[in-house]
Parts: sequence; structure tokens; C-alpha cells
Amino acid sequence: MVSKVDHIGIAVVNIDETLSFYTGVLGLKLLGSETVADQKVKVAFLPLGDTEIELLESTDPEGPIAKFIEAKGQGIQHIAFRVDDIEKALAELKGKGVRLIDEKPRYGAGGAKIAFLHPKATNGVLVELCQR
Ligand code: ZN
Repeated sequence: MVSKVDHIGIAVVNIDETLSFYTGVLGLKLLGSETVADQKVKVAFLPLGDTEIELLESTDPEGPIAKFIEAKGQGIQHIAFRVDDIEKALAELKGKGVRLIDEKPRYGAGGAKIAFLHPKATNGVLVELCQR
């Protein structure tokens, strides 16, 4: 069903302050950034091999990333798996009784179609499906 790790989403308080570690220390390149108003988040893309690190900074104190940091601190927030057909994958998961946060795909950063599975269905990991 899934073909690769599309990206790893990391919640940070401030992207600009965090970038110096990823670019300056680890040597990753910043490909770009985008604000996804719908999810109250600013996303910075750092390709790494055939996957990507995504830094996520909240644009709103009530946004999901702000709440995540408030509860757990900065760190890995989700892991995204690539799928070829997200509608088909969601229907299949639903058929297998997997609890979903998103029954239908929504717009994700970089023009991807994304949907989240419920962490209760995945032993605590926030899993995102991502179709590009
Ligand atoms: Zn993501």
C-alpha cells in the first residue's frame, strides 16, 4: 500500500532558528517553504536522499503544531508514507477498520494530497498518507 517514506514532519517553535542545525551543521539544503493556511502551519522543505525533512512552525497559537509543542515539546510530529492512490488507500484502510482523522484527502504542502490516520490506530504514531 505504501511505497516509501515521503517525509518526516518535525514540529519546531521557529523554523529560521532551527534551520542553522539542518543546513549549517547537517548540510541539508532548504528547497523552499510554504504556509498552509488551512492547517495553520508554515512548512520548510529539506530534501534528504529520496525523502524529505519537513520543519513545521505554527502560524497560530491554536493550530495543531502549537498544541503538539505545548503538550510534548518540539520534535518528530508525524511520518508520511507515499501512496499512489490516496482515495483507494483510504477506502482500503477504512475497510480494514483503521480509524482515520481524514476520511477524504486534503491539500498538503507542496501540492500533495494528504490524509492522516488516527494515532490510536497506529500505536501512537501520527501517520500521514501522501500522494504526489
Ligand atoms: Zn506531512
